[in-house]
Amino acid sequence: MHDVIIIGGGPAGLSTAFWCDELGLDTLVLEQSEQIGGQLHRVYNPINNYLGLKARNGPELLEHFTADVDSAEFDLWTQTSISSVDLKTKRLVLASGEELHSIAIVIATGVRPRELGVPGEKEFIGKGMIGSGARDRELFAGHDVCVVGGGDAAVENALLLAEVCPTVTLVHRGKKLRARREFIEQLQAKHCVTVFTESVLTRIIGNDRVEAVEIQRKQGLKPFQLAVRGVLIRIGVEPNTDLFRAQVETDERGYVVVTREQETNVPMVFAVGDVSNPLAPTISSSTGAGATAAKVIASRLNAK
Ligand code: NDP
Repeated sequence: MHDVIIIGGGPAGLSTAFWCDELGLDTLVLEQSEQIGGQLHRVYNPINNYLGLKARNGPELLEHFTADVDSAEFDLWTQTSISSVDLKTKRLVLASGEELHSIAIVIATGVRPRELGVPGEKEFIGKGMIGSGARDRELFAGHDVCVVGGGDAAVENALLLAEVCPTVTLVHRGKKLRARREFIEQLQAKHCVTVFTESVLTRIIGNDRVEAVEIQRKQGLKPFQLAVRGVLIRIGVEPNTDLFRAQVETDERGYVVVTREQETNVPMVFAVGDVSNPLAPTISSSTGAGATAAKVIASRLNAK
């Protein structure tokens, strides 16, 4: 029996564990990947807005987190898959068959990139699908590319690719881009970028690798093909709640609903980080939410 089991070893889960440890709670973190860090592994740009620390990218910030984690005394199990969890009774069953129990559970499972669901999207992974503009742009230098999405992530990636690609076509389903103004202004100044709004990418085409995309502009117009060498899709994220969605209150987009104490509608079940924060999914808010959850759990346990 642990005081706290934390599901997920990204910034939110690690911060919760760090604080729980500091507050004297018997804490276990379960991380399904080989490594802790969660989405930090997918941040290829400099992180300049985490107060007190600057990092060239997510992995560098993770090095700082890891140094603190190594000096703490909580248990951390990586490569640990959970096959079921009963939030009410706080009973978890691992894929290995082992059963775990705790007084509190903290959900810190984060979000995953949303998929477009078009033919070619999965088939061409590693064969023209661009994982990240920051990481992969040299591979696509000198080639025409297409970016899908209208938020910060799509526009930021389009800007990065526009530095090295002869043409960048941005395809957005809405009427207006919803990225921050600064990004849109920079995009408008790039002559190599074409923006198709009210348009959808319907197919990624090629033989051994990406050769073209099919784009449907405004309803009713005939789809057309555009020759490109690379496609990058950034259409937002969705919360990782498959394990417990039916047991906890979520909003219309599937994010876990929490009180200001980070508690869900199930007593002593908390949620921290992006899985419960569609408004400000930042590293800062994730680590802060972890501190809040830990303080609340400690005060509840001390009051017993
Ligand atoms: P957003 O949710 O902000 O935007 C997603 C975009 O994808 C929207 O324009 C949306 O269109 C479009 N979209 C959603 N679903 C589909 C679909 N099925 N088909 C086609 N288009 C679709 O996500 P982002 O990934 O851009 O960003 C996620 C978070 O990360 C945000 O909070 C963002 O601010 C942050 N971020 C910040 C950065 C920075 O500050 N440097 C960089 C990157 C991300 P519609 O508008 O029509 O709904």
